Amino acid sequence: MELVRNLTRPVRIGSITIGQGNPIAIQSMTATKTTDIDATVAQINALHAAGAHVVRIAVDNKQEAAALCEIRRQTDANLSVDLQENYRLAELVAPHVDKIRYNPGHLYHHEREKRWQEKVRYLVGIAGDHDCAIRVGVNCGSVDPAKKEEHDEDDPVTPMLESALDHCEFLDSISFTRYCVSLKDSDPQQVIDVNRRFAAERSDVPLHLGVTEAGLPPDGVIKTRIALEQLISRGIGDTIRVSLTVSNARKPEEIVAGTQILQDIASGRVRSVVDFGTNTLNIISCPSCSRVENEAFIELAEDVKAMTEYAKQHAITIAVMGCRVNGPGETDDADLGLWCGPTHVNLKKGSESLGAYPYDEILGRLKQELDVLIGAGTAN
Ligand code: SF4
Repeated sequence: MELVRNLTRPVRIGSITIGQGNPIAIQSMTATKTTDIDATVAQINALHAAGAHVVRIAVDNKQEAAALCEIRRQTDANLSVDLQENYRLAELVAPHVDKIRYNPGHLYHHEREKRWQEKVRYLVGIAGDHDCAIRVGVNCGSVDPAKKEEHDEDDPVTPMLESALDHCEFLDSISFTRYCVSLKDSDPQQVIDVNRRFAAERSDVPLHLGVTEAGLPPDGVIKTRIALEQLISRGIGDTIRVSLTVSNARKPEEIVAGTQILQDIASGRVRSVVDFGTNTLNIISCPSCSRVENEAFIELAEDVKAMTEYAKQHAITIAVMGCRVNGPGETDDADLGLWCGPTHVNLKKGSESLGAYPYDEILGRLKQELDVLIGAGTAN
């Protein structure tokens, strides 16, 4: 089946070009410590061999930036760098990568006196000097605080959308068009909603699609499939990532899953839509990355899924996150949230903190809270 695609602008990322009807590119991200050069190169090469068109690497400090320089020397894969708060690392990493991802919601943390426009202008200068594309990566758990304040807290989609549109308008105004946008949420329905609204306003801007913290396979693959089926079948999307909570050795499964989803959509093998998060237990977990502070996180996510099996008929959302960078914010909307530190796991009920527990105690504590919710009638 020939899919009709939105006529987006071409954006070159190293040896590939997304947009303008080019094949939809598949991406992934490393989860090894970026300073562990051998492990990171091995993971990049495994992803590349599985068919990844672009591989993203998190860089949060100068040691990781230095490691990236060596990593670049050892791989031919197209590389993207993921910047969080410390956006000025861009000048150290841009010479070694093909794309820079910045998150509008994280541009506030450093140099608070500076306007975001000034910071984006700096990033654009660096990208231009080093032949890099840019991704404006908007994420539900870290939306621009100014945008959030302007909207009802029951509306998580509009602040994300407006933040992305503002950044596009600014980038266009300074004549930088080599960018794409992503709008990610852990709820597939919101991913569909926000990307459809964005594409209705900016059908020219290439979109990177994904469901963030989709979780463990197979559920994480199904959630992503639901969103991608709905969007790609409407011509929306130029590159994708399937974010899965899997061990480092299994990371290429993200590429295998993405390839399969795209093939199925292209040949019309679409599945019926599953209504996640409304009638049944919904476990979301981040895909893990180099920021994970204790590798027991993956096992914990698996144990949470197994332990909560008895509650699967209840409309309760449990979030399991790998670190303090996104964990505290991204668990706020869950009924129960866990985010992992080096020795303890932090437990939350909505935005309220219930304390931190050792890894061997957290499951029992979580079960107590789950039983309270079920008893309180959060059930269907
Ligand atoms: S929550 Fe932390 S460990 Fe998990 S993907 Fe996000 S940044 Fe990485």
